[in-house]
Amino acid sequence: MLPYSEEHAQFRDTVRRFVEREVAPHHARWESEGAVDRDLWRKAGDAGLLLTNIPADYGGGDGDFLTSVIMIEEFMRGVFSGPGFRLHSDIVAPYILHLGTEEQKRSILPRMASGETIGAVAMTEPGAGSDLASIRTIARREGNELVVSGQKTFITNGGLADLIVVACKTDPAAGAKGVSLVLVEADRPGFSRGKNLEKIGMKAQDTSELFFDEVRVPASNLLGTEGKGFAHLMTELPRERLLVGIVAVSVMEAALCWTLDHVHERKAFGRPLIEFQNTRFVLAEVKTKVTVARTFLDDCVLRLMRGELDVATAAMAKWWLSDLECEVVDACLQMFGGYGYMREYPIARAYEDARVHRIYAGSNEIMKELVARSL
Ligand SMILES: Cc1cc2nc3c(=O)[nH]c(=O)nc-3n(C[C@H](O)[C@H](O)[C@H](O)COP(=O)(O)OP(=O)(O)OC[C@H]3O[C@@H](n4cnc5c(N)ncnc54)[C@H](O)[C@@H]3O)c2cc1C
Repeated sequence: MLPYSEEHAQFRDTVRRFVEREVAPHHARWESEGAVDRDLWRKAGDAGLLLTNIPADYGGGDGDFLTSVIMIEEFMRGVFSGPGFRLHSDIVAPYILHLGTEEQKRSILPRMASGETIGAVAMTEPGAGSDLASIRTIARREGNELVVSGQKTFITNGGLADLIVVACKTDPAAGAKGVSLVLVEADRPGFSRGKNLEKIGMKAQDTSELFFDEVRVPASNLLGTEGKGFAHLMTELPRERLLVGIVAVSVMEAALCWTLDHVHERKAFGRPLIEFQNTRFVLAEVKTKVTVARTFLDDCVLRLMRGELDVATAAMAKWWLSDLECEVVDACLQMFGGYGYMREYPIARAYEDARVHRIYAGSNEIMKELVARSL
């Protein structure tokens, strides 16, 4: 069991009300538009839902990691995957907090907490995803500036982002040791966005290509140590992978609830679906899988909170929970018959969204490599 307090319960209420008022009524429109309203970010900032576990000194909510778990659970109860808050608050902000200079932290984090600045992380390129060491985007030093040239793709929040953590080669001859992280503001000359990419799921989340054509930034925009970008990424990635696991378990739990409601209500051959042995056995299996998944996940969350979540365990959580999510959501969808294929039912959107969890934040095959290396 996770150590939730009364304050966490209050925070959960706040998130639930925010989702009901500000997200649920608009999500279908955002799906057709391919992005959420920018205004939502300011509203989330005002409600204290961004950077919830960043210290108050930097404008954050000063909470612990459980606030991130609550955010994910409450948004996933209705499969509201549009707002890219998780990436912004739980991936980009920790990069700045852990790697940034005092000046970077003071200038960037409060604006991210208020929703004025939206963050993104750009690692993947058209020619390099899993094999990050072979990225080709370059940051060349010229006097007191870094000049960034290259192209990124599949970038979450890419359409709305104001600040992008870009993985670049500062020493192209040095392989993984030549990778550095550079902060690029979206209003710099030479920066442009490609089209919002059309996806099979997560349709309300903007995912874009980004282009860097000799973009000049001050050398002080280097994030962390030059040449240590790869190592920095590896340090931060276990949390990112655990976040995928949290989404997976939240969705499985929600899917089980929707399905139980449906099979009690829906009748076939004169009796509720829950009375058929197949329904009972399938849902008994789902319940067992979700219970085991939750136990493992909670253990991983506690490890992260103690600073003990290692690369291999985070990789296990990411691959196993996201694979299981696809399996469980598919089994639940089947119980809905044709209704399960209709997008107005959350189970249909859960099915669409789940697929990418096996691909991003490091594909599940790469996760198994990481686990295997620890054997
Ligand atoms: C919706 C979405 C959002 C994303 N958001 C971001 C983002 O915000 N920032 C960002 O930087 N990236 C983002 N990505 C990119 C994502 O992280 C990559 O797509 C992912 O890492 C896989 O890289 P790739 O697509 O280049 O596939 P590839 O690396 O070409 O892999 C293709 C297949 O080969 C397999 N494979 C590759 N290498 C090995 C190996 N050594 N052993 C066994 N199998 C292997 C992979 O597992 C995969 O199945 C996003 C992607 C999507 C779809």
